[in-house]
Amino acid sequence: MANNKINHYCIICGKGYHACDSCMEIREFTPWRLLADKPSCFQIYMILDKYKKNLISKDEAREQLLHHDLREKDTYKESARKLVDEILDEPKKPRRKRPVVETVNTVIEATTAQNTELQNTDMNDCE
Ligand SMILES: [Zn+2]
Repeated sequence: MANNKINHYCIICGKGYHACDSCMEIREFTPWRLLADKPSCFQIYMILDKYKKNLISKDEAREQLLHHDLREKDTYKESARKLVDEILDEPKKPRRKRPVVETVNTVIEATTAQNTELQNTDMNDCE
């Protein structure tokens, strides 16, 4: 491996790495090695890129980011880190209040089914 000097810098974490440009050109799949030093960085880049281009909402971007290992976030380039922070910073939506059942004793059976429905709705809030 005589030809492994650094000629690329990861677009996410800024780490230097070697990727052979002429090898990349003959590949048919996306040459992620041209942008990032490892697949996880490239996947995060793809999310940030889609978010920046408004192809996905902040909620979608957050949902996707949370599937990835962000433990190395502090080592990311500032531009990438700020964007990740911005996406993850969104405060959680307040839970919807369930209507108060006023006459619990008398209508408890009738409202059981309804309450179950409401609980399911609450659990789906975070999607
Ligand atoms: Zn990287």
